[in-house]
Amino acid sequence: MSFKVLVTDYVWPSVEPERAVLAKIGAELVVAPDGEEDTLAALAKDVDGILTCFAQVTDKVVRAAEKCIVIGRYGVGVDNIAVDTASELGIAVTYVPDYCVDEVSDHVMGLLLDWNRRISLFDNSVKGAGWGSVPLTMRIMRLRGKKLGVVGFGRIGRAVCTKALAFGFEVLEYDPFVSAEQAAEAGAVSVDMETLLRESDFVTLHSPLTPDTENLIGAAELALMKEDAFLINCARGPLIDEAALYDALQSGSIGGAGLDVLVEAHPSPDYGLLKLDNVVVTPHVAFFSQEAVLELEERAAGEVASVLQGQMPDNLVNTSVLDHPSPRHSLSG
Ligand code: NAD
Repeated sequence: MSFKVLVTDYVWPSVEPERAVLAKIGAELVVAPDGEEDTLAALAKDVDGILTCFAQVTDKVVRAAEKCIVIGRYGVGVDNIAVDTASELGIAVTYVPDYCVDEVSDHVMGLLLDWNRRISLFDNSVKGAGWGSVPLTMRIMRLRGKKLGVVGFGRIGRAVCTKALAFGFEVLEYDPFVSAEQAAEAGAVSVDMETLLRESDFVTLHSPLTPDTENLIGAAELALMKEDAFLINCARGPLIDEAALYDALQSGSIGGAGLDVLVEAHPSPDYGLLKLDNVVVTPHVAFFSQEAVLELEERAAGEVASVLQGQMPDNLVNTSVLDHPSPRHSLSG
């Protein structure tokens, strides 16, 4: 049996690790030259599986993939895949939910520490204007005893909690699907969103992007936050209403923001938020380490290989396809 698997896009040096995994089951890779919808739809026609990182695997692309039985996400969120269309057509969708929990939680602490200790500011000032060129008039907090609010207490939210506890933070969490007992076991205090926003010195977002969580943080939520509070988003850009965040940062109604994700996937340097001194930004790299990426490539390819061979993958997103009346896959429920 020979299979073809389309790789829509990737952000690492080569696709050799996934090629090696898929070669073991006789599958060859087709690497898309770009992530445009028309390109992907044309290439999708002839493939048995799709692997995707950030490219949009839209309704049109999924419908064009007439033979496809599995779409595998290189990563955690599946908001770039038309999962409903895949489910309707009986196509399995897989993901790799936990390959970078260490990296993202480290990155959150990195943004928090960079801001609070003003590391980037001091680094730039020493190299540019010289030693001692910035007066110590800014707000730098002693972290012990401060409150960190975690919105979304899943894998990454809990890992951030563990690390924050080691710094002496009191951790508040808000997650409608996590009980107060579960939060307490992890060392956090479960509160409602309003309390979290009012009381936290740092707020970090870790919920998925869904229609319910889009603009989870808007003008009303920002208005509840403390004047010196710092908002961190290493989850998904659209969780925040960026126009409202811009206003809050510019007017000083919150202290600052640390953002690894923005609404725009590739913002230009004149993007409003990038002009603000109280924003620390990284270009969607929180997931990245060599170890995490190798694990991601091998596991994402392994998931696709499993479905192609009729074996249950470790992480099936749309379990409803197991009950599909005429599924494309041959997985049993
Ligand atoms: P997870 O599924 O383990 O946890 C998400 C949690 O959010 C769950 O506990 C869920 O109950 C909770 N949640 C759902 N709706 C909510 C709401 N309305 N309010 C508050 N909480 C809500 O996911 P995870 O692995 O911890 O990932 C969290 C986020 O990080 C996702 O958005 C993911 O896409 C993003 N992510 C970003 C990067 C990056 O490189 N920046 C890397 C990996 C993951």
